[in-house]
Parts: sequence; C-alpha cells; structure tokens
Amino acid sequence: MYCWRALGRMLGRPQVVCVRTRNSMSLQEHNYWLTTTEFPAVDASQAIPEAVDVAVIGAGFTGLSAARTLAQRGAKVAVLESETIGWGASSRNGGMVLTGMKLGVNKLISMYGRERTQRMYAASLASLDCVEQIVREEKIDCDFARCGHLEVACKQKHFDDYARQAEVIAREFDHTLRVVQRHELSAEIGSTIYYGGMVDEVSAGCNPARYVAGLGRAAMKAGAQIYEHARAESIVRESRQGELGWKLETSRGPLWAHEVFVGTSGYTGRATPALKKKLIPIGSFIITTEVLPEALARELSPRNRMIYDSKNFLYYYRLTPDRRMLFGGRAAFFPETDQTVRQSAGILRRGMIDVYPQLSDAKIEYVWGGTLDFAFDIMPHAGQMNGMYYAVGYAGHGVAMATYQGQKIAELMAGDKPENPFVGIPFPGAPLGMYNGNPWFLPFAGAWYKLLDWVS
Ligand SMILES: Cc1cc2nc3c(=O)[nH]c(=O)nc-3n(C[C@H](O)[C@H](O)[C@H](O)COP(=O)(O)OP(=O)(O)OC[C@H]3O[C@@H](n4cnc5c(N)ncnc54)[C@H](O)[C@@H]3O)c2cc1C
Repeated sequence: MYCWRALGRMLGRPQVVCVRTRNSMSLQEHNYWLTTTEFPAVDASQAIPEAVDVAVIGAGFTGLSAARTLAQRGAKVAVLESETIGWGASSRNGGMVLTGMKLGVNKLISMYGRERTQRMYAASLASLDCVEQIVREEKIDCDFARCGHLEVACKQKHFDDYARQAEVIAREFDHTLRVVQRHELSAEIGSTIYYGGMVDEVSAGCNPARYVAGLGRAAMKAGAQIYEHARAESIVRESRQGELGWKLETSRGPLWAHEVFVGTSGYTGRATPALKKKLIPIGSFIITTEVLPEALARELSPRNRMIYDSKNFLYYYRLTPDRRMLFGGRAAFFPETDQTVRQSAGILRRGMIDVYPQLSDAKIEYVWGGTLDFAFDIMPHAGQMNGMYYAVGYAGHGVAMATYQGQKIAELMAGDKPENPFVGIPFPGAPLGMYNGNPWFLPFAGAWYKLLDWVS
C-alpha cells in the first residue's frame, strides 16, 4: 500500500530512531500518523518559476488551503515548503477538529466585546464546516467523524465553571454544550480522576496526516504548484515590468511574486522577522500505545471522543481509528529535539497511567513532537503585515482554524470581502519589546503555567 517515496519520507525524518526508556520500553521515535499516510508525489526536478501571482510559504493546513482556493480562482500559485508537504504541525497533531478558541468565552468578551466575540465563535463553528466540506468535495480519506469532544475538569472549581461557560455559550452564541456530572462521567470516559466534564457534540476527529496529504493533492488538482525542499530565505519588495511585488530568494533559486501569503505557524523563521517576533514557538508531544483490545478501548473512551483536560499544562487524548490510545501534552515546553522528544515519552506515559491505570502494561509504540505557535494574546491572527498576507497563532487549536484562515485570506486576496473577525484585531508583541524571536523565557513560562495549575 505504501509507495517507496512514503517509506523514504518516513525514514528520512531525523526523529526515526529506536529509543530505550528507563522502564525498558522500546519505541519508535517517530510520528505514528505518517505510517498510515501516502503523500502526493511532487516532481522534484521541476524548476522554481520566474514569476507567479502568489507565493505561498508553508505547505501545512494554512498554506495548502490558501493555495487550493487561490488556484481555484485562477491564480498562478507556487507553494514553497522548506521540507515536505505537511512536514510541520499539520501532520504531527492530535487530529482533534475543535470548536471554540483557546481562550474562554468570558475572557474573549472582555477583550473584544460581545458582537465581535459572537462573530469569532461563529467562525470557529464555520471552520469545522469548512474542513468537512473540503474533505467531502475532495474525497479525502482521513477518517473525519463528528464524534464530539469532551473537556474534563481536574478540580472541582474547574467543573463549577463549566455550567457558567455552557450558559454563556448557549445565550451568546446559540450553541449547546452538555455538562456531565461526575457520577455520569463513566458513560464518557473510563477514568475516575476527574470532577466532571463538558461535551460539545459538534467537534470532530480526523487523521491529520492523511488530511494534509489530501489537501496537498487538492491544491495540486486545482492547479497550484508545490515546491518541496524550497525554503524562502528572504523576501523584499521589488517591481517587475512596472508591477509592484516581491522578490523571494529561496534555497532553490529566486522567484518573483505579485503577492505573498505566509502560513509558517510555529516554524516561522528569519524570512519574515516581523512575524517571527510576534510568535512564541512551543513544543507539544504525543505518544501512542500499541493497538488495544476492543473491549479495553471501549472502556477508555466509550463514545470515542476527542478529550482534553482543564489545566493550562494540559493533556489531550483520543483513540486512533485502529484503536491505539494517542496521548499528548506539553511535556517539555521547548520545541521538538531528540532530547525533548525522548524526555516526553516518559513524562507522557506517566501522565497517561495517572489518567488510565488500565494502560500500565500497554506498550508505547510511538513518540514524536511538533511546534505550536502562540501569539502573546493566545489568539489567532490574520491579515496583512508589512504588505504580506499571513494567518498564524492557532495555539494548539489549528486543524479547523488554519484550514479556515487559509481559505478566508485567499478569498480576501482574490478581491472578496469574506467574513473574518480575526482580521484587524490588535496583534500585540512582547511586553516592553523584550523578544527578538528567540524564546529565552520558555523555562519561566513553563514554570509559571505549572504554578497556575497548582493554585487555580
Ligand atoms: C503535537 C501537536 C498536537 C496538536 N494537536 C492539535 C489538535 O489535536 N487539534 C488542533 O486543532 N490543533 C492541534 N495542533 C495545532 C495544529 O497542528 C496547528 O495549529 C496547525 O497544523 C498549523 O498549521 P499551519 O499550516 O499553519 O502550520 P504547519 O503545519 O506547522 O506548517 C508550516 C510549514 O511552514 C514551513 N516553513 C516554515 N518556514 C518556511 C520557509 N521559510 N520557507 C518554506 N517553508 C517554510 C514548515 O516546514 C512547515 O511545514 C497540534 C500541534 C502539535 C505540534
């Protein structure tokens, strides 16, 4: 089933090594989703064109969704990807296609007022429809299913807040969440450590690597050209034949583009220094178990929900379609390296067994990491910066929102006036400007969030 190219991609990734951890479990330091996915073949011999209408930087959900929409509108589009299609967070995530945003609704209303927050919440619901529509239209085989999500409370006061949140969300956004009392929780989760939960039936799950591979295929089908191993190194204003645009130096040669769209998320680098200074790259890590017996899998997650807990330093988990427990969290705050991935395997395994003692004998077969992009206000941001279009800042909530922002910003570039309440909101930088893109404060931030979880 898997072509040599897919195998090459898997083996070519630096993280593929066998790890022996302290309890002697032997596991693949490698992304499980990739073992299930065949990526589209890109013609590596194809030269970078001299000029295009739009250069899209980054071939994840954001960039590929934008490229698909722009190419469908007739634009000549070149997608520049420094690695391979979906190499970034888009193939490494938990595959939770979630409603809402990272910040709570009361916080959002205090920041943006009721009217804009209502539009933001509506956009978060529309972002799921956007993913579902693309999956259906492009026939992407990625196990997309509206299985709902479950948030579980780690403290009584977190649970007490659920009823208040559900009431605000019903009143302000006309969206129903169901609060689950502690004594009813066994119908949702086979763990006894939580104080209750809250279910949103609208959220979905998918295999993210298959989804991003399918999005890549769809962008190519629409006419976009994708260039892998083509890193954008610098971008400067330059006119060509009397037309104002951008000159890009790439690792595969120069390119002139009328417009540039940046979708580099947690991997934003030196080519876009102004954007890099607005984003904090934060590591997130995942382990998966061996395939579990059917009865055990049903006991752990009877309704097959996408689950996450109420902490700042949270755990998120779900069953994979082939019945592995996939368990993730910010085990280390730093982005993925051999060392942080290796450390995370042990931390996450202990976390998983705290939640599910039933898994103490389950073999861990895969561990990997990826980088999230947090803005300083923990909000998604999109629009134009220094003349370039961009969409970033998903804060671990990007499967649906990145797809949606890619599409909406592409529509804006094509001359439409799409509804997008995230365009034009203030995009704060670091307090006192104490950040040049090198996140020196991550250890302090990690300690701060652990402290917050302890006291709040
Ligand atoms: C471990 C983990 C778990 C997560 N779980 C979830 C989840 O369950 N649900 C959810 O909603 N979200 C989740 N997220 C977040 C979600 O995956 C991201 O928000 C989303 O994938 C962002 O997509 P993107 O296309 O913007 O960025 P990415 O997929 O990161 O793509 C950016 C691409 O840009 C490329 N690039 C960078 N610089 C350049 C350059 N100069 N030139 C060319 N190319 C460049 C990179 O190589 C990369 O491929 C998770 C993230 C991680 C890391």
